[in-house]
Amino acid sequence: MTPHRLSLAIPVYNEEAVIPELLRRLLPVLDALPGGPHEIVFANDGSRDGTLGVLTAAAEGDARIRVVSLTRNFGHQAALTAALDHTTGDAVLAMDADLQDSPEVLPTLMAKLDEGFDVVVVQRMKRKEPWWLRLGYHTAYRLIARMSAIPLTVDAGDFALMSRRVVDAMGSLPERERYLRGLRSWVGYRQTTVQVPREARAAGESKYSLGRLFSLALDGAFSFSIIPLRISAAFGFVAFTGALLFSLYAIYAKLVLGQSPQGFTALIVVLTFLVGVLLIALWIIGEYVGRIYFEVKRRPLYLVERLVGVDKPPRAH
Ligand code: UDP
Ligand code: MG
Repeated sequence: MTPHRLSLAIPVYNEEAVIPELLRRLLPVLDALPGGPHEIVFANDGSRDGTLGVLTAAAEGDARIRVVSLTRNFGHQAALTAALDHTTGDAVLAMDADLQDSPEVLPTLMAKLDEGFDVVVVQRMKRKEPWWLRLGYHTAYRLIARMSAIPLTVDAGDFALMSRRVVDAMGSLPERERYLRGLRSWVGYRQTTVQVPREARAAGESKYSLGRLFSLALDGAFSFSIIPLRISAAFGFVAFTGALLFSLYAIYAKLVLGQSPQGFTALIVVLTFLVGVLLIALWIIGEYVGRIYFEVKRRPLYLVERLVGVDKPPRAH
């Protein structure tokens, strides 16, 4: 195995319960890895519990551990971006703190890097979650992949090993709306997948509510394509053709069959249906307008409150 300097990028939000266990499993994996010095960059995403204290203590006891502490909770994707921005290694592993992603797969991923790949994405094979959540994830991944203009890896999250040039390329993309797994796919280079069963959370609770998951799914659909707009156009054409055919029939009914149009109920049904379609189309346009609104503000993705053990100058996004 080629010796690399590996960086781990880990966003954390209220994870004081899992960090000791995470380090207990992570550090031996790093110790066994050739190359180095490796580093672990934690982005503390405005945790309200003792997370920052636990991390600072760990960083003081181990020079490989670094902490980027944000001024408030900016959300998972922004926190992961912050962690990625402060990595210095020539290979970077993005992972969650909760041990749903086993650190023990690292050597397998590193071996892929040696084969010449720039991105090694970990695909989850089995989720230990209730069936309705699994069904939800399954459909969501496939729907988004369908609607997206770039090839998105299904059943994969942010857990991936990336080369330095990929991390730099992703960091140089200007958008505020960061759907990182999409950006990762967008940059290209040679990408591959490795299949690994997904573990259950080691401790604590998922920080993603159903609402947040939904909004992440919307990012996947809207940030990478204008296919939703095309779908609403298709609805428009269907409605238009339907109206045209019906008016032809109405003329025929009047002139040939001698009937005048009737049907109040049908009218209400058609009217409400069309208004519904219109409002949905309006929402789709609104999603894009809202995204443009946030992009043009050009606010920073996150603000750093404190750095521990980090000496890399921050990236200006
Ligand atoms: N996280 C974060 N900021 C947030 C929410 C989550 O930094 O606002 C971190 C969290 O600590 C964890 C990772 O992002 O390390 C993934 O979160 P979680 O495990 O709750 O998501 P799930 O695996 O349930 O999708
Ligand atoms: Mg998790």
